[in-house]
Amino acid sequence: MDISIVIPLYNEAESLPELAAWIERVMKEHGFSYEVLMIDDGSTDDSWSVIEQLHEQNRAINGVRFRRNYGKSPALNTGFSLTRGDVVITMDADLQDSPDEIPELYRMIKEDGYDLVSGWKKKRYDPLSKTLPTKLFNATARRVSGIKNLHDFNCGLKAYRSEVVKHIEVYGDMHRYIPFLAKNAGFTRIGEKVVKHQARKYGTTKFGLDRFVNGYLDLGTLWFMSKYGVKPMHFFGLLGSVMFFIGLIAVMIVGGIKLYHIYAGVPFTRVTDLPYFYLSLVCMILGTQLFLTGFLGELIARNAQGRNHYEIAGTIGVDKDKIQ
Ligand code: UDP
Ligand code: MG
Repeated sequence: MDISIVIPLYNEAESLPELAAWIERVMKEHGFSYEVLMIDDGSTDDSWSVIEQLHEQNRAINGVRFRRNYGKSPALNTGFSLTRGDVVITMDADLQDSPDEIPELYRMIKEDGYDLVSGWKKKRYDPLSKTLPTKLFNATARRVSGIKNLHDFNCGLKAYRSEVVKHIEVYGDMHRYIPFLAKNAGFTRIGEKVVKHQARKYGTTKFGLDRFVNGYLDLGTLWFMSKYGVKPMHFFGLLGSVMFFIGLIAVMIVGGIKLYHIYAGVPFTRVTDLPYFYLSLVCMILGTQLFLTGFLGELIARNAQGRNHYEIAGTIGVDKDKIQ
């Protein structure tokens, strides 16, 4: 199979028929063999029954339905575990991404040898309140991830070599950083293609302003994971040791002063009267704790087999047991 198209969706019933017809047309025109995986992320509207109808008309359109709303990342992750095509395309369901881009994305993966090609909504049809913070956000993501050639990390329209999606785990809200996840998994040929973007035709956006706060927190996690994820001791251990030794030296100075006073016969000041005494104690305790945190982190990292579980309410045309 040439192409698997994964579409996460949450309350997008109005857009789906148009989207499906558009995809069908493009696939036919170019003679691709394909499948569409619509992942209904716990929609409360008619999305699921629309998917059922679409499947009746076209067996290439399949679906998975979450029992509740888990988020875009779990939806993508579930779709990724099911893909059978050589090239995997992800796109939003709201008709903001154009299926007409798919053939060129496919070609870039197949012929130009990219592992991942990310769309770039160079000209966006979104409100300023979204485009401005997005610029800032992408600049930070570029710096932290070291993927300098991407302008639009969070673009929903992306293409992947099949291998890539089988080797990354998109959890939490990490869909914003899939190129970073891919890079950390060793897929470094990451490209970009300018794509057409349209204003949302039906429904409303599913992400509020909290996307930026969460986005930055996740970026922090990812940065840490990519640098120290498998060796937390290098981070906590170093910090802990430094703290501990600062404390130790301070305690020795405090003790030294005390001994000197005894030796010189100068009237007693008790060590507990000195603020440095307490500061050095705090340093030593914190240092030990950081060190132990690093140690625990190491143990956890060795044993972690992180795998999420999502309640599936139904499937169409896909084998439920294949979902990971
Ligand atoms: N989406 C989803 N689960 C969610 C939120 C969003 O599957 O919890 C889907 C949504 O239906 C759409 C895509 O993710 O297909 C992008 O969402 P949206 O268009 O609201 O984001 P925006 O374009 O505003 O960034
Ligand atoms: Mg959208």
